[in-house]
Amino acid sequence: MEPVRVKVWLPIRSLGWVNSYILGDTVIDPGMFTSRSILDLVRGLRGHMDPCRIGSVIVTHFHVDHSTAALLLSQLASPRLYIGRRDLEVIRGGVDKYIGGALELFKHNGMPGTEIEEILKTHPALRLREVYEEASSLEWTPLSHGDHISIGGEVLKVIEAPGHTPGHILLHSRDGWMIVGDTLLPGITPHVTIHDWNTDPLKDYLNTLKTIEKLSPSKAYPGHRDPITSPAERAREIIRHHDSRLNEIIELLKKNGPMTGYEIAKKIKWRTRYQSWAEYPPPEKFFAMGEALAHLKRLEEAGLVTHEEKGGTWTWRLEK
Ligand SMILES: [Zn+2]
Repeated sequence: MEPVRVKVWLPIRSLGWVNSYILGDTVIDPGMFTSRSILDLVRGLRGHMDPCRIGSVIVTHFHVDHSTAALLLSQLASPRLYIGRRDLEVIRGGVDKYIGGALELFKHNGMPGTEIEEILKTHPALRLREVYEEASSLEWTPLSHGDHISIGGEVLKVIEAPGHTPGHILLHSRDGWMIVGDTLLPGITPHVTIHDWNTDPLKDYLNTLKTIEKLSPSKAYPGHRDPITSPAERAREIIRHHDSRLNEIIELLKKNGPMTGYEIAKKIKWRTRYQSWAEYPPPEKFFAMGEALAHLKRLEEAGLVTHEEKGGTWTWRLEK
């Protein structure tokens, strides 16, 4: 049996929708806590099951667009709830605190306070803070690497796949297909950011991509857009994308000399429809800054760049 997809509307224009999957009496990634999204989800479910008889809900990762509708489903039915063990720690620790960690790093890396304020006002996860608080107090079962879940006559193996979030999970079926959440997306590269300087999320993510390449699933069901028919090839493409981004940062530092992370983020050639940094809406600035810092951290760990702190601001240069 293969999962049935329900496209669930998102108030995030660049993505359009999130894919919820139905397998037996289980819903994987129910979507976002908005009335329009929930309407789509319930309509989609009704063709396949009674929404009041959902047996379990699994979320691939804690992000707002995938997980927060679980709060509503937990009231509609009484499903068992599953999430990766490290993402459960994130929601239990408070999403505020998690995003606050990123913003603190943005500040040290030269992002102006006014731009940080704008992000605080508009970030979708912070706007759904109360939903997260309630959702985090539900009875979640944490999933770990190597766990098996039986649903809809299928046995799915859990693979921990950190990078996009610390506790992202993949679900690998015995038939060969895989539910990949936002670890592998067609046409767009999944976002990688950093929330704590003691972590190296890009390294984790590149390892996750290598794992997918090695497992070479027959088909991947992503969190957005359409199924991926050559997952191993897509994983290789994304690895190449990050290699060239790492090189781009080295070249920028060679050409311009020492810079703050903010100056680097502004100079990177992001694939976006906006013409200049000033045009970027706050979420795009959040993505760009987080992505730049995750790459700088990787380069620093690899011994290629280093940073110096002066008066609370970090300046990056090439390692001699
Ligand atoms: Zn997503």
